[in-house]
Amino acid sequence: MTLEVANPATGAVVARLPADDAASVAAKSQRARQGARRWSATPLTERIEALRRFRSLAQSQSEALARILTTEVGKPLAQSRNELKGLLARLDFFIAEAPSVLAEEAVHSEPDGALEERISREPLGVVANISAWNYPWFVGSNVFVPALLAGNAVLYKPSEHASLTGLEIARLFAESGVPEDAFVPVIGAGETGGALVAQPVDGIFFTGSVATGRRIAQAAAGRMVKLQLELGGKDPVYVCEDVDIARAAASVADGAFYTTGQSCCSVERIYVHASIFERFVEAFVAEVRGYRIGDPMDESTYIGPLARAAQIEVLQRQVDDALAKGARLLAGGRRLARPGNWFEPTVLVDVDHSMAVMREESFGPVIGLMPAADDGQAIELMNDTPYGLTAGVFTAERERARRILARVNAGSVYWNCCDRVSPRLPWSGVGDSGIGLTLSRAGIEAFTRPKAWHLRDRC
Ligand code: NAD
Repeated sequence: MTLEVANPATGAVVARLPADDAASVAAKSQRARQGARRWSATPLTERIEALRRFRSLAQSQSEALARILTTEVGKPLAQSRNELKGLLARLDFFIAEAPSVLAEEAVHSEPDGALEERISREPLGVVANISAWNYPWFVGSNVFVPALLAGNAVLYKPSEHASLTGLEIARLFAESGVPEDAFVPVIGAGETGGALVAQPVDGIFFTGSVATGRRIAQAAAGRMVKLQLELGGKDPVYVCEDVDIARAAASVADGAFYTTGQSCCSVERIYVHASIFERFVEAFVAEVRGYRIGDPMDESTYIGPLARAAQIEVLQRQVDDALAKGARLLAGGRRLARPGNWFEPTVLVDVDHSMAVMREESFGPVIGLMPAADDGQAIELMNDTPYGLTAGVFTAERERARRILARVNAGSVYWNCCDRVSPRLPWSGVGDSGIGLTLSRAGIEAFTRPKAWHLRDRC
């Protein structure tokens, strides 16, 4: 099988890669089983050293890696560089925390030494990591870095839209001294992912859409394997009337349009206190009209192409549905007439929750803004979704933000910021946004199985 890699900015094919079929996936899975034995027996200090070398290679080669990412995903170069820079901070966090999280713990001991109770953290074994394309270094490293530190072997399937990056990740691990059977890339699209899920692995860690997440959950049902799903969102922001309108508009617009709206935590719905709605919309549209659209290899580009051609149709359907139901277009609304996958930054008002644009993940540069009469109505609107990844509130008052955010169903909540992820905090979703978590100290524990030790020095 062959996988074609196309540049989303031009449509040109930039690489043809050999893809895995069911037989080669099974062979890789067997290799990873051997790798897991060897790697788990490697002392943690040596595993950490290998990860440090990985960090140093990623740092010294970051410009070339950023360019590969931009070529295959279409992410504007400045944003690809940011992702590589952010990777280093994640590695630092995991490397610093792993020894204490993974250390064996004495939880009870009787004074005469007759009974001791301890907890050790065993690796799961072989984990399958099926990943998304939008932040391959981030969402990948949230899984494979703590998995490797904890002593697991990883079968890593990058998205078919980020396979060149996936192969670079594998190369860097091999050069860092991680055995090639402990980190094994699996290349291909959905069919290859399906074959990977069918292997006798000990954990399945997936990042992607809710539709694929459901398919994987069904395929894994009945098997006693750990399953984590990091899925999509329809993340809301609510802007209160006490904000600095220009600053809030710039910040929320960045949350909606950064990476051309293709972050899992992109702002996807905006509610604004009715008393400032018109002024906020005016500032927001001015901000969006100022975005530079163009060649993602140009350092000053802010809006690039969509990674996947098929998403153009999804966005067009959402815009047409909204307009047919009475929405008003204040910017954009159509694909850009040029080769590649381009869609204009699009702003809609007079929207409501009967419209797909306010209910279904857009995952592109399209946003709807709606007035809210008061905080109570804003909370109701924010919670009117099957998703729950992130939610943000912009207000001058910390207590007001706390009151509102405490009532919002989301894994991460933001006051006066949005579209932000920290390695120190758990990353998780409510409802259709997924199950399980990555990042934080708990995101290292997630790749271990606690073993309970009951020890008596005599019987
Ligand atoms: P996707 O679901 O199309 O693909 C994700 C991965 O699943 C790819 O590697 C793909 O090849 C694989 N796959 C497809 N069908 C499969 C099957 N039947 N069995 C096994 N694997 C299969 O998602 P995408 O387009 O790569 O990513 C975009 C989505 O990911 C958005 O919904 C976004 O919100 C979400 N996302 C979530 C997070 C998070 O942390 N919650 C992070 C990034 C992206």
